[in-house]
Amino acid sequence: MTFDTDLKGAQAHLAKLLDEAAAAVAFTGAGISTECGIPDFRSPGGLWTQNKPIPFDVFRAHKAARNEAWRRKFAMEEAFAAARPGRGHMALSRLLERGRLAGVITQNIDGLHQASGLPDAALVELHGNGTYATCLDCGTRYELSWVKARFDAAGGVAPDCPACGGPVKAATISFGQAMPETEMARAEALTRGCDLFIVIGSSLVVFPAAAFPLKAKKAGARLVILNREPTEFDDLADLVVRTEIGDVLAPFALQA
Ligand code: NAD
Ligand code: ZN
Repeated sequence: MTFDTDLKGAQAHLAKLLDEAAAAVAFTGAGISTECGIPDFRSPGGLWTQNKPIPFDVFRAHKAARNEAWRRKFAMEEAFAAARPGRGHMALSRLLERGRLAGVITQNIDGLHQASGLPDAALVELHGNGTYATCLDCGTRYELSWVKARFDAAGGVAPDCPACGGPVKAATISFGQAMPETEMARAEALTRGCDLFIVIGSSLVVFPAAAFPLKAKKAGARLVILNREPTEFDDLADLVVRTEIGDVLAPFALQA
């Protein structure tokens, strides 16, 4: 394992690994979006320290939990709506454009990879997408503006699905909710087919998502972990970089 906190050294090492790779895959977490004004979960002061997430079964079973989930969601909405892609997002999008990256697997739900120009075909959203909602029973899609109008009009009560009466939930995967099958299969294929796997801004504690770096390493890929704080998998990595994601990746948006 090479441990690099020196910016130039880390960039050179990462560039070399990318040069040597036939198929590189990036795996992103909340850390790539913090410079865009969206707090992560587990940094000091992150969302986790303020509110423990509401598990899926609790959301489904209790109206009060749904009201609280939507209250939190709308409280965060301004930050999400104002966020623009950061230096990390831009670098990945450019690397993909230049054929240097096979794809991006993300745990994020903020839509910033798409906003950076990354095509849907190259992006796997493991934890869904928070920019719209669906009915948990019949699958009907509802826009956030639709939910918000009814939530506000009812004084903070979450609307149920007009079509079937089911609970309406943001289209993200909550703790305890089944993982999306197609996305899991696509992530699996990208992971098995890569020879370089680059973790960017993830504490690697949320499973099953965090199993992908392990799978990649076991299948013979080189593993890079770019994260401000240590992770459980650092010992397995070929390169660990503990510094700002945007600072490290910025030049990769420019290089040929
Ligand atoms: P996490 O909060 O558990 O970990 C983020 C990691 O990124 C931390 O270890 C932190 O040290 C590091 N980090 C933060 N900013 C950084 C920076 N600028 N440079 C370098 N490192 C930085 O996030 P996770 O592992 O993605 O797991 C959290 C879960 O919460 C995921 O499932 C994700 O879907 C969800 N989530 C998503 C968003 C989003 O969409 N932007 C935000 C919060 C949480
Ligand atoms: Zn319904």
